[in-house]
Amino acid sequence: MARLIDELRKLPGVGTRSAQRLAFHVLRASAEDAEALASAIRELKQHLRLCSICNNITDVDPCTYCTSAVRNQRLVCVVEEPTNIAAIEKTRSYTGVYHVLHGTLSPIGGVGPEQLRLANLFTRLAEVDEVILATSPTTEGEATAGYIAHELHKSKPNLKVTRIATGVPAGSDIEYADEVTMSRALEGRREF
Ligand code: ZN
Repeated sequence: MARLIDELRKLPGVGTRSAQRLAFHVLRASAEDAEALASAIRELKQHLRLCSICNNITDVDPCTYCTSAVRNQRLVCVVEEPTNIAAIEKTRSYTGVYHVLHGTLSPIGGVGPEQLRLANLFTRLAEVDEVILATSPTTEGEATAGYIAHELHKSKPNLKVTRIATGVPAGSDIEYADEVTMSRALEGRREF
């Protein structure tokens, strides 16, 4: 029991109280439900990983976007989470590839640049012509875009760095943008 509580406490947003509650829930659950939870976790780790090029969740490394011959590998769209890719794919107008940060800078939340998955964006810059910063138009998203733009200009001065237009309502998450809004935000992107 103590071991399970310790493991659950490592999950984001789970404190000691929640971890205890979850552990007791598992204790009372049927053997089948408990096994289903354990096997879902095990299989996730066995079959899925992060793409070594773009950090997207994938079952093959590199992912299908990064190896696609029909996609423009020189155009990279930077997003906060893997789920943001779906919102952009729905527009069917984006033909480039991606880079997933797995978070945003948050001084209050204690998230600094070293907590984001940024290093592999810089190692691929030689093969990139444009980077689109598609982080959310929230305070954290804007701060993240500003920081990355600054670092990109430092490492490759002739790189085109753009920011999606504010077609996505300010303060909202791009995950909830509809296809038309997202299309317009991409088309109306401006040089940073
Ligand atoms: Zn990839």
